[in-house]
Amino acid sequence: MHLFSSETISSKNQPITHAILDKAEVFLDMKREDQIHKEVSGNKFRKLKYNLAEAKKLGYTTILTFGGAYSNHIAATAAAGKMTGMQTIGIIRGEELAEDLQKTVSENDTLRFASVYGMHLKFISREHYRNKTSSEFLDILKKEFGPSYILPEGGTNALAVKGCEEILTLQDVAYDVICCAVGTGGTIAGIINSTNISQSVLGFPALKGDFLSEDIKKYTTKENWKLIHDYHFGGYGKINKELIEFINTFGDQQDIALDPVYTGKMLFGIFDLVQKGFFSKNTRILAVHTGGLQGIAGMNKKLKKKKLPLITI
Ligand SMILES: *Cc1c(COP(=O)(O)O)cnc(C)c1O
Repeated sequence: MHLFSSETISSKNQPITHAILDKAEVFLDMKREDQIHKEVSGNKFRKLKYNLAEAKKLGYTTILTFGGAYSNHIAATAAAGKMTGMQTIGIIRGEELAEDLQKTVSENDTLRFASVYGMHLKFISREHYRNKTSSEFLDILKKEFGPSYILPEGGTNALAVKGCEEILTLQDVAYDVICCAVGTGGTIAGIINSTNISQSVLGFPALKGDFLSEDIKKYTTKENWKLIHDYHFGGYGKINKELIEFINTFGDQQDIALDPVYTGKMLFGIFDLVQKGFFSKNTRILAVHTGGLQGIAGMNKKLKKKKLPLITI
């Protein structure tokens, strides 16, 4: 039951060796947050830690949250709920998925994982899903499911940011630049909060969105950060052959699996920036591997349908 022990877990930093880095004379290490837990990986572990403690403290026995059909947050919440004795309810975007539930769950690795871990899945239309933060809609859900601790889509709130402040540790003061993939912005906000004045943070959004900076500013007052909007590959969950090849080559060379939605895009961006001379000589870069590897199976099914090469790691 001690999924979230009182001791703070820290992940190891793994040096990356590559001719492109040597040529630019920069150093790159990866912070292996993907390794902190098998089922509740990476930043989702960090984001859930204080939320589950708070839910318990307030006497809740149920966590209710939202996500798409391939969501890392949905998978992580289901597993963390099971391991801490909380019931979980996942409100999933796409009512068509409920038409043949058995087929949906047998074909979708994320939803199957969530349901094996006991998450109750409720599928709603994209139109309803858009209202997911309105108080009327949340009241309806509370009526249906009883008192529940509600986590927003992606799991970002103040307690999630607090958990993400534990990603960087004292040993990480040695880095000049910290890089992180961005979805809702909670993770990068926590990272920014725990940097010191001589460090800067680069965020690589996995989606198109001008709102992200404002969202991040809700959780941090520091200004030593910047978003690089050039590597979203057309939007959330969108990928192309070049990205797949990058992920596969990186996996072969470094023995590190990257996910196609977040960390693959970030690493692609970092290498592209290094090649373009963005980082000055001797810059020490730390790229945070936020996990998300559970999504590869689902992505490969989509790639297969589109007759694109598969992610082979
Ligand atoms: C959810 C997720 C992110 C984005 O985190 P935010 O806090 O929403 O910005 C980044 N990487 C991975 C692997 C994720 O699963």
